[in-house]
Amino acid sequence: MAVQCSCSGATEMKVGIIGAGISGLSIGKILQEHCNVTILEKEEYIGGIAHVKNMDGIPYHLVGGHCFNSKKKEVLDFVFDKVMPLEDWHKIDRNSVINIRGNNVPYPIEFSVKQIANFDTELAFEITKDFLATSSNANESSNLREWFIQTFGRKLAETYFIPYNQKIWGRDISLMSPDWVKDKLPIPDKKEFFLGLIGAAYDKMPHSTFYYPNANTQNAFINALAEGSPIITKYEVKCVEKSGSKWIINGELEFDLIVNTGPLDTITPLIKNCPSDVTESAKRLKFNRVTTVFWKCIPDSATWVYFPESNIPFHRRINIGTFLKPIQGYCITECIGERSFEFATNFDWQKFGLIEPLSYNVSGPAYVIFDESRNLSLSEIFSYFDSIGLITLGRFGEWQYYNMDVCILKAIETANSIRIKYQF
Ligand SMILES: Cc1cc2nc3c(=O)[nH]c(=O)nc-3n(C[C@H](O)[C@H](O)[C@H](O)COP(=O)(O)OP(=O)(O)OC[C@H]3O[C@@H](n4cnc5c(N)ncnc54)[C@H](O)[C@@H]3O)c2cc1C
Repeated sequence: MAVQCSCSGATEMKVGIIGAGISGLSIGKILQEHCNVTILEKEEYIGGIAHVKNMDGIPYHLVGGHCFNSKKKEVLDFVFDKVMPLEDWHKIDRNSVINIRGNNVPYPIEFSVKQIANFDTELAFEITKDFLATSSNANESSNLREWFIQTFGRKLAETYFIPYNQKIWGRDISLMSPDWVKDKLPIPDKKEFFLGLIGAAYDKMPHSTFYYPNANTQNAFINALAEGSPIITKYEVKCVEKSGSKWIINGELEFDLIVNTGPLDTITPLIKNCPSDVTESAKRLKFNRVTTVFWKCIPDSATWVYFPESNIPFHRRINIGTFLKPIQGYCITECIGERSFEFATNFDWQKFGLIEPLSYNVSGPAYVIFDESRNLSLSEIFSYFDSIGLITLGRFGEWQYYNMDVCILKAIETANSIRIKYQF
């Protein structure tokens, strides 16, 4: 094990945090000012899903491109006041596009019917007809496929939303719940759609600009988040035991409190004497991995491009070079699932302005799958965790579709409730 840094806490309370991803580092940053914190990380690097590999000064986001922004003032205040000052970031305008039959149209697609008409009038007309015929009962849809049809109309759903989501979830989306999508996607009304048609629509997406570190690597943010917290890397938690009022990790480290940010499916069975029905619930939780390829490419003006068509192996291309100052010709393609290099590069890539694949990676858990059994499994796991006083947090610690800003928000809220409960 390698101790990265250490500091003494203000109180004697010892808090062990499992995982040095964005969630673990954020709560560690807040708590280490008040008590004795140790973060335990199984990898030799920190940052979890958000970690970046340095490729001769160009950031290869191994699990797919990341950028930062938030709608929440407390998250922005925390990041810019306590972690990394605003002057250490640059702002980038989001220019995301959707590739429909070889043509790029601006995102979100429901405001881009006018641009679709430039290459396929019939398609644009069908999309318009179906969208204007939608009724407002999408919230009653029993599954994700139906929800897309009822929200956006059949033609737009079948042209983009259904094939793209089929690709990104790697499963039949008529077996998925629409719950996760409702606060993720802005839903246009018919007037906004009409304004899109006449070219007057505005972009309702919450993050039409985003921040990237001036150091041209997200690791600058991750390292700033880690500053001041004692982190033990290459330390895999293999056993979690409650002994009286104390927690014992791997039979050797003793804590007063544990905050888990690792994946529930693998962490839950590590708890000594965990009831078998809770362990079984954890095993039922499902996720997708992401396979990425890092490319040298012709510089592109779009920040990222969505590809709904099933004959293209990747679903998204992140032009990571557009996140950098100055802009450079590098991008990352993302395929869902554990794929071979041959699969991920098996397309006519020169046609897409790609020059050479430089590196390749298959991730651990990347996307939570919202299947029929998820809610029940989670309620069983959480009620057991509550009964033993184990706190859990983060994308796979809560099995949610959280972005970094939500992980940070949850870390702030959880740290506040710990401080209230233990009065420090
Ligand atoms: C393709 C993709 C693109 C994304 N893009 C964006 C974006 O642009 N903007 C944005 O805000 N968010 C984005 N996100 C979401 C963002 O990556 C996550 O919200 C965030 O990184 C999750 O952090 P976490 O700490 O909760 O989890 P993780 O990053 O999974 O951290 C958990 C940590 O626990 C460690 N661990 C697991 N088991 C053990 C063990 N037994 N012992 C010790 N340590 C253990 C892991 O190694 C890991 O470091 C994206 C996610 C994906 C998959």
